Amino acid sequence: MLPELYHVEEASPVWDQLRASGQPLVVVTGIHARPAEWLLRHYGLGEQGLQVISLLDVADPAEFVQRVEQALVALGATAAAGPTPSLISVSSDRECTRERWYPVHDKSRCTECGHCLQFCLFGVYELDEEGKVRVARPDQCKPGCPACARICPHSAIMFPLYHKDPAIAGAPGHFVELDAEGRRLFYGRTGAQCPTCGQGGEVLRRGRAADDCCAECGRPVAAAPAPPVAAAGNTGDDLDALLDELEQLSGGRPD
Ligand code: SF4
Ligand code: SF4
Repeated sequence: MLPELYHVEEASPVWDQLRASGQPLVVVTGIHARPAEWLLRHYGLGEQGLQVISLLDVADPAEFVQRVEQALVALGATAAAGPTPSLISVSSDRECTRERWYPVHDKSRCTECGHCLQFCLFGVYELDEEGKVRVARPDQCKPGCPACARICPHSAIMFPLYHKDPAIAGAPGHFVELDAEGRRLFYGRTGAQCPTCGQGGEVLRRGRAADDCCAECGRPVAAAPAPPVAAAGNTGDDLDALLDELEQLSGGRPD
C-alpha cells in the first residue's frame, strides 16, 4: 500500500523497502498500468515478478477482488505453492509530501533515437553508462508540460497525470499522435538530420508555406521535377497515327 506511486520521492526509503522485500509484487495504482510498471522498473523493482492493477481499469469491487486473485495466481502465490502474500504498508504522510510531475520512460518502446534528450532544455534526460537514454533528473521537468511525449516517435514517454490525452497518460491501446509543430521545433533546435527528406542543419523560415517544406522537419524541399514533355518531333507522328486509326474506323481518311 503506497501513497500514489507517482508522487513518491526519488530518495524515499519506500523504494528500498520494496526492493528489500525480495518478493514478487502486486501493485494497485490510480494511474494507468503501463506507466506504473515502468516507474517501478525505473527503481529496479519487479525483477521477481510484477502484476500491476490500475483502478482506472476496474469497474467495481467484485472485479477488483477478482483481479487481485488473478494477479496472485499469475505470480504463483497460491495455497499450494509460493510464500504467503504480505501487505507492505507505507505511511502517506511521511513519504508523499508534494505532487510531482515528470516523464515516465517505457524502455520496451524506446529505440534510443535520443530525440527527447536533445529536445529537453532542462536536463531531465541523460545517457547512462551503456549509452542508453534515461530519466536522470525528473524533478527538473516543468510542471504541466508533456512536450517531449509529443515528439517521441514511439510513444515511449508518458505523463500519467496528463488527463487531456489518454495516450500521453499511458492508457492501454493508445499511441501519441505526433505534434508536427513540436517535431519541427526539434529539428530547428538540434539541426538533426531528417529521415524523411535527408536534410540536416538549420531549419529556416518559420511560417513558410507548408507545400514546399518537408512535412517532418519543415526544411524547404526542392520542387518536384516537371513531368517529361514529349519531344516536338514526335507530336506529328502521334497525330498521324491517330488519324490513321480514325481513317480505319470511318472507312476513309477524314479531311
Ligand atoms: S524520443 Fe522516445 S524513442 Fe527516442 S530516445 Fe527518447 S524515449 Fe526513446
Ligand atoms: S516535458 Fe519538457 S521539461 Fe519535461 S522532460 Fe519533457 S521536454 Fe523536458
